[in-house]
Amino acid sequence: MSNPTIPYKIYLNETEMPKAWYNLRADMKVKPAPLLNPGTHEPMKAEELAGVFCEELIKQELDDTTPFFEIPEPIRNFYKMYRPSPLVRAYCLEEKLQTPANIYYKFEGNNTSGSHKLNSAIAQAYYAKQQGLKGVTTETGAGQWGTALSMACSYFGLDCKVYMVKVSYEQKPFRREVMRTYGASVTPSPSMDTAVGRKILAEHPGTTGSLGCAISEAVEVATSTPGYRYVLGSVLNQVLLHQSVIGLETKAALDKYNIKPDIIIGCAGGGSNLGGLIAPFMGEKLRGEADYRIIAVEPASCPSFTRGTYAYDFCDTGMVCPLAKMYTLGSGFIPAPNHAGGLRYHGMSSTLSELYHQGLMEAVSVPQTSVFEAAEAFARVEGILPAPESSHAIKVAIDEALKCKETGEEKTIVFGLTGTGYFDMTAYEKFHDGKMTDYIPTDEDLQNSLSKLPVV
Ligand SMILES: *Cc1c(COP(=O)(O)O)cnc(C)c1O
Repeated sequence: MSNPTIPYKIYLNETEMPKAWYNLRADMKVKPAPLLNPGTHEPMKAEELAGVFCEELIKQELDDTTPFFEIPEPIRNFYKMYRPSPLVRAYCLEEKLQTPANIYYKFEGNNTSGSHKLNSAIAQAYYAKQQGLKGVTTETGAGQWGTALSMACSYFGLDCKVYMVKVSYEQKPFRREVMRTYGASVTPSPSMDTAVGRKILAEHPGTTGSLGCAISEAVEVATSTPGYRYVLGSVLNQVLLHQSVIGLETKAALDKYNIKPDIIIGCAGGGSNLGGLIAPFMGEKLRGEADYRIIAVEPASCPSFTRGTYAYDFCDTGMVCPLAKMYTLGSGFIPAPNHAGGLRYHGMSSTLSELYHQGLMEAVSVPQTSVFEAAEAFARVEGILPAPESSHAIKVAIDEALKCKETGEEKTIVFGLTGTGYFDMTAYEKFHDGKMTDYIPTDEDLQNSLSKLPVV
């Protein structure tokens, strides 16, 4: 143990918890590109978004100058039930790796939904309730977002309609039942309930679905049902804003012990946990106050940053949502069905895309079998059974710690451990049985979906 004065877990007390979210965009000199109307290609105005999203969330979405948004008290009270989340010093993993590196992880899996998604779900449900809405619709892939949203909606007494990617609906019946326990209705997507679902089924009979396609269905239902709006669990600026609570707590905990991280690592699906974790650190970097290496980790089977194109694209398969400028694989991209590691979205947060484009952060992609190897090694020494998504960050944290072992450098590594993997045992089973493969899309696969990017 290199520094026994640092405890295994650094907690904050209730009075030290963040009272405002931090809006990273306020400190960006070059702002992320605006959302565009898919018909006119003009920047989306608040009025145009009002049929889809809640009013207060639209304000947050479009505001790239206000640095702090106060967290309303009912949300802070809900946070107190499961936050602050612990910042854990991975002493046991360091010991196992025999590395001079100091490794910390921020664990977001300590709530029933099992992931960081609850941080934004509760905020979005609160604003929907404030607006007097009856309910919200959404999509869910692996099920974490749908679960988090069901919990948040039942807390505030809102109806919740979840469109769940069909392959997950079938593979994860227990996730579905958790959502139903909290009162949500869960429909496998694509479904015959919506025009866009029927169209996708006609074009791709037997498809197991995708996030982009479930989004289209949820948006259609929200815009055609009075008193409903659509909510999204990742990608959007408002979600990164709410998730800044992760980074603010991490920074406050590190500051207590005067710890300055050298490397900050997070997995990236749509970018919300990574955007939240890095927010205050990237803020310092943008203001020239400090420097950090920041690494996004994505699956080799869905490599938006590392092999995608920075361009305007549809956020959904049905092409009903606004266009976002982002690193994308094309909205028609669907990862191979044997991909079990999560993080399946074709695009990426426009804020993180712009930061990456400016060279302010790095990205690496990793094959899923190496991710599960890292997950298992981590579980065996640190105890926590990690979500496959989170394990992308574990994999690269271990790689960086092993580099420190070679060079003898005592670097401080912080990574986001976004959730638990109890509902991912089918994927773990495949891995244990040696049936997991690494399908990496060919250049031709990617060119195929990228050739259908909208011309803007
Ligand atoms: C949804 C999810 C992710 C990926 O989403 P981001 O928006 O990129 O953070 C990562 N880990 C877990 C456990 C998730 O549920």
